[in-house]
Amino acid sequence: MIKTNFLSKTVRELKPSGIRRFFDLAANMEGVISLGVGEPDFITPWNVREAAILSLEEGYTSYTANAGLLELRKAIVKYVKDSFQVEYQPETEVILTVGASQAIDLAFRAILNPGDEVIVVEPSFVSYSPLVTLAGGVPVTIQTKKENSFKLMPDELEAAITSKTKALLICSPNNPTGTQLNREELVRLAQIVEKHDLIVLSDEIYAELAYDDPFASFASIEGMWERTILINGFSKGFAMTGWRLGFVCAPRYISESMLKIHQYTMMCASTMAQHAALEALKHGMNDVESMRNSYRARRNYIVKSFNEMGLECHIPGGAFYAFPSIESTGLTSEQFAEGLLMEEKVAVVPGNVFGESGEGHIRCSYASSIENLQEAVKRIERFITNLHS
Ligand code: PLP
Repeated sequence: MIKTNFLSKTVRELKPSGIRRFFDLAANMEGVISLGVGEPDFITPWNVREAAILSLEEGYTSYTANAGLLELRKAIVKYVKDSFQVEYQPETEVILTVGASQAIDLAFRAILNPGDEVIVVEPSFVSYSPLVTLAGGVPVTIQTKKENSFKLMPDELEAAITSKTKALLICSPNNPTGTQLNREELVRLAQIVEKHDLIVLSDEIYAELAYDDPFASFASIEGMWERTILINGFSKGFAMTGWRLGFVCAPRYISESMLKIHQYTMMCASTMAQHAALEALKHGMNDVESMRNSYRARRNYIVKSFNEMGLECHIPGGAFYAFPSIESTGLTSEQFAEGLLMEEKVAVVPGNVFGESGEGHIRCSYASSIENLQEAVKRIERFITNLHS
């Protein structure tokens, strides 16, 4: 009989993701409209899929360099320079990763010593705090406010910094709020970052999905290049979630350390996915633009619908999530999401899984057909009406 609990204490204490519970509930029901999943409803464009098929036909089935195909790294350098005005060296400052997820993990493992604090701005993507913990760090959360459209305010950042703070993680446009920080807002945060000598992980995975204001990369803010780890990838804007391909750009001293971990743990990202991504960067930008236009139209529809039915919803500048307040119903976000699923078969994610400040809200992904969205809106409206009757 086994007497020892072999699991690590850190892992035992890690909470399972709150999103999963809702997916599991919804998976066993028929006729559910899901606004739950955070991924594009588009299939990867055909030319990109064909490039992967061709790479297999041509026999590219071995490892690439640890950092990824040099040709792809060069294409990424051109892409981030043309689109975000930041410059990197393809040989030493770019790494292809298994999704942006792995890039975030590598970054924390490369920079954190035990007990180092990382500021995580909530509501946030559910992986950040667990990844900080797994790397031996301590996540310190800031609860942004609905009245500020969930934007991180400079005084909130100042107040969270201690002598142990090493890094700040920002995500703009944000999951789950869709909130995007403009250049002036980033400049104000950069002044505090500089003053306290912090490093910044900038999760820019939704950079291509900015609908109103031009997207500003944190690395492009004056003085920030040398202290920014820029994380991006192909999952969202390029509709390639299943390919598992992301990338990270960082000054050489950081990227070399990340590469050390990457070469021992992952070797390299998938070779065929890298060939596909090369095609996406070379010939796929028109597709990215038409997907962006389609999401923008759907955002406009869903945000207007929520506000009309009395669920106050700020206009999310980017990503593909609406984050309406459900406070007017008197329910908690868990009660709302569970009731809506059981009674009307619409799956949304309760806001509290993204942090305390997400309570009173639900996350609805509008990366779903307009017909689905219209039907979901009808059902949500009926759910609210029935609550009051
Ligand atoms: N960062 C954010 C903010 C996300 O929302 C997601 C996925 O939902 C990721 C990173 C992970 O992306 P990837 O599929 O590239 O690992």
